[in-house]
Amino acid sequence: MTINYGKLLASQRNWFSTGKSGEIGFRIKALKILKQTIIKRTDEIMAALEKDFGKSRFETFTSEIMAAIEEINLAVKNLHSWAAPLRVKTPITYFKAKSRIYYEPFGVVLVISAWNYPFQLTITPLIGAISAGNCCVVKPSELSPNTSKIVTSIIRDSFPEEYCAAVEGGIEETTALLKEKFDFIHYTGSTRVGRIIAQAAAEHLTPAVLEMGGKSPCIVDDTADLKISARRIAWGKFLNAGQTCVAPDYLIVHKAIKAPLLQALQEQIKAFYGDAPEKNSDYCRVISQRHFDRLSTFLKNGAIVSGGTTDRDQLYIEPTLLDKISWDDPIMQEEIFGPILPVLEYEDLSEVIATINGHSKPLALYFFSKDKQAQKRILREVPFGGGCINTTLMHTANPHLPFGGVGESGIGSYHGR
Ligand code: NAD
Repeated sequence: MTINYGKLLASQRNWFSTGKSGEIGFRIKALKILKQTIIKRTDEIMAALEKDFGKSRFETFTSEIMAAIEEINLAVKNLHSWAAPLRVKTPITYFKAKSRIYYEPFGVVLVISAWNYPFQLTITPLIGAISAGNCCVVKPSELSPNTSKIVTSIIRDSFPEEYCAAVEGGIEETTALLKEKFDFIHYTGSTRVGRIIAQAAAEHLTPAVLEMGGKSPCIVDDTADLKISARRIAWGKFLNAGQTCVAPDYLIVHKAIKAPLLQALQEQIKAFYGDAPEKNSDYCRVISQRHFDRLSTFLKNGAIVSGGTTDRDQLYIEPTLLDKISWDDPIMQEEIFGPILPVLEYEDLSEVIATINGHSKPLALYFFSKDKQAQKRILREVPFGGGCINTTLMHTANPHLPFGGVGESGIGSYHGR
């Protein structure tokens, strides 16, 4: 069966031309309706993520639902000023003239999203599209089918299809959508598929934001507070069972503190998930058997310091620390995207900088150190999308910071303005 989304696109384009979606009052009302529907269906959203990959209700509430609601609140509060024409200076040679930048909606936006934060990664770009006065077609990930269903239902309950619609499906549906000429594309997913999206967008010269992944380093030097570092690294890595695009992918630790840091990490993992993480409802599952099998092969790399047990039927992989890893190991050749943390060691920060800069520019970077000069050096000498000093992930929670990658980890950014 050939799928054709031409009719849907034509209806949205037609509706966009009425100018309704661009009115500030209309946008604010739409955001408030979306918020109310989300609040009303909070329980169903939490149940869907639990079914999809055992995500705990508390984590869904904080990292998915509240994240989306905060984004709506920020947009509602600031929309008038964000959308207002921006007055800029005029050269004296054009004395008496005034210059302004007027912001206008793109038109019909396509949002393609990933499964790992399946609610937030679909709704937040939709909030951006609505806030900027666009119509929108959303395509959630087929790998989280229960969330895809509830997202589709929330959009249907909130808006007429000619304004905002959801299309469920996988490669076939996305390919059919990409044949259409959208006015803007917002994509979240792997770098491999990102290239396909970029090519399809180029066919129509459609601007696209590409939110992709990669190997995000976490460096710990010999001045870092070991207990705090271990706690924040273990949290950032094993949250969502490591299936977070900005999770620390691997550790590079100063040789002098590797042994005590590994010890502190083991204690933190135990403090978070206990002796039996498979029984802890705060610890979720790997999304699919394909990902489970891919991750399981990495357990043969280096030496297991702690963890390493698996259960294929349950798609369970224990939080695992791997030592004696080198850059030649298979685990260092691709983004891990799972609860396995390989640990490398270093003696000279210059070597670390050169090694990271010899690979694709990372989506995130974390540096644990009390040395202000070293902190400045990392910020100055290593390009990365976003990151933190002495913590992990927190930059993504601040809507006043743009979120996005650089090079192969992403093009463009979003969140907030
Ligand atoms: P994916 O690339 O497999 O899928 C992403 C989307 O693309 C899905 O909606 C899917 O249906 C669609 N798709 C898949 N194959 C396609 C094809 N051949 N043609 C057209 N569309 C296709 O990614 P995923 O497994 O859902 O997510 C994991 C990846 O996403 C990781 O690399 C992770 O780092 C990245 N990610 C990035 C961010 C970010 O904000 N930068 C957030 C979450 C995940």
